[in-house]
Amino acid sequence: MIKTLHLFLPDFGPLAEKDVYRRHIVTGERAKAEGIATLTPSRSARIEDLLLVHTPKYIGALRSGEPPELASSGGVWFPSWIDVSLSVLGAFLDAIDSALVHGVSGMLGGGGHHAYPDHGGALSPVNDIAIGVHYLRSKGLRRVLVLDLDAHFGNGTVASFPDDPDLFLFDFHGHASDFGHPDTPHLFKNFRVEPDARLYLQALRKELPTVIDEFQPQACLYVAGMDVFSGTPNPPLRLKIPDIEKREAFVFEVLSNQKVPVAYVHAGGYASVETLVGLHMITARFAHGALTLYGSTRINWLQ
Ligand SMILES: [Zn+2]
Repeated sequence: MIKTLHLFLPDFGPLAEKDVYRRHIVTGERAKAEGIATLTPSRSARIEDLLLVHTPKYIGALRSGEPPELASSGGVWFPSWIDVSLSVLGAFLDAIDSALVHGVSGMLGGGGHHAYPDHGGALSPVNDIAIGVHYLRSKGLRRVLVLDLDAHFGNGTVASFPDDPDLFLFDFHGHASDFGHPDTPHLFKNFRVEPDARLYLQALRKELPTVIDEFQPQACLYVAGMDVFSGTPNPPLRLKIPDIEKREAFVFEVLSNQKVPVAYVHAGGYASVETLVGLHMITARFAHGALTLYGSTRINWLQ
């Protein structure tokens, strides 16, 4: 029987009408229609899950809308903002659970890497990636690799882990907003000077296998941002579709070769819905292709 990729779909509430969220839903429909994915509505995460990273004061603002500038720091607040945020986070926690069983899984959306513990950031009310690290630890997986290939720097994730020797923060980007210098093991590379794909792919091929060999992660959280695409307005990076295919092929090849389970998020994407669906489908296809390479060796991951 051919395995299908498990993808988890949040309830975006009123945001579902906006293109920047609709791309996630359409990608899920496309992956299902292609026969490569099974779609599952996400669970709702709990307030306690938010507390793994965020401060009670900030969570209170997300729930109440007060004070307005704090409540809207990760996007314009509306009354069901907290419910949407918990659904998006729930989809990622579901994807992590699924990845630990099947090797690879994803969620349709997510990637709030600009959210800090005490406030949100650009389109990031909740840092699902940082919470995912703590969630993996609660499952007994200590050594985690955050592979952030969104075109923007994961400043909120970095700020959430100033000194964590069992975490590796791998971040390739084209914008150096609020560049961090944590004591947590990390590799940050900025491609602003050379935004074309050649150096980017060369560096990825050189650095990612080395990090995996040396750090020996038990799980990976992959921020598969598509704002690296050259068709992005004011593109921080200029990867073309064949370059993005090479990136996704390589990421899933390396992780599956080393049997590192991976849960991915869509993260950034700023082009037409149709273009973005095509780009997110590249991730889905290579993730699906990697499934068979993981086999059923779950026990190895938990040793
Ligand atoms: Zn981005």
